[in-house]
Amino acid sequence: MEIITSIEKMQKLSLKFKREGKKLGFIPTMGCLHEGHLSLVDLLVVKSDILILSIFVNPTQFGEGEDLEQYPRTFEEDVEKSKARGVDIIFAPKADEMYEFGFSTQISESNISNRLCGKSRPDHFNGVVTVCTKLFNICQPDFVSLGQKDAQQVAVLKKLVNDLNIPLSIEVGEIIREHDGLAMSSRNTYLNHDERKDALVLSKALDLAKSLVDSGCNKTNEIKEELGKLFKSVSCARVDYVEIVDSETMEFQRKVLSENSLLMLAVWINKVRLIDNRLL
Ligand code: AMP
Repeated sequence: MEIITSIEKMQKLSLKFKREGKKLGFIPTMGCLHEGHLSLVDLLVVKSDILILSIFVNPTQFGEGEDLEQYPRTFEEDVEKSKARGVDIIFAPKADEMYEFGFSTQISESNISNRLCGKSRPDHFNGVVTVCTKLFNICQPDFVSLGQKDAQQVAVLKKLVNDLNIPLSIEVGEIIREHDGLAMSSRNTYLNHDERKDALVLSKALDLAKSLVDSGCNKTNEIKEELGKLFKSVSCARVDYVEIVDSETMEFQRKVLSENSLLMLAVWINKVRLIDNRLL
């Protein structure tokens, strides 16, 4: 496995592989790799001739006062885990090369990006869409795998690829959870012992919603009301949003459920903001 930090070297190599007719798989990450990330490697490892995983804590997708400085960085372990799972190249560019002095271009998606996480984190998706466009141009992937954990990010990036005719296909990997149901996330490392327990309220809320639906409830407000009560019962939990949306368009479903209803949660556990989702 090779580690590449130079943008020029990575791009030249990707273009060479493409000329040779090789199929390139790509997994964009911010590192601190866990089973969620590695499951995305598994999705592409067989069909890709060359598998590239990027590790880049992208400053432009963090808002002011967010956790850019604190974000966990575990490069050595990430290298070992990637190698063991079949990654061929780790691309780990430096921020000052990705955003050279005078960088002034931004790509933005202006519909799906404005709600849910985009409302609480106003420039977040502009940062995501711009960095992914750069990474796609540098790494030239045929296949990209993304996690359903970040369902809105999947919808936004699918829109980017479709709207701008970027020649790659997106595969979506299911949410990988800890044994007790908590969705794996690099940010779980911020939780102390008690917060870790309280964070289970997110997966419990998903289960509660599913059981309400299974017992015949199809009114979105009734489901949201019950979840509101559950979140209130955990003192350190503060809801950012609880919404039911169409899984493709992320349009809010204000009345009744449809076939594509996706429950989306963003909840603060004290100072740690966690997200999760489940198809209802
Ligand atoms: P991140 O490093 O948080 O930017 O995530 C990189 C990729 O891993 C994104 O496509 C995430 O959706 C995906 N991912 C993160 N957590 C999980 C998880 N628990 N299960 C599946 N995929 C995940």
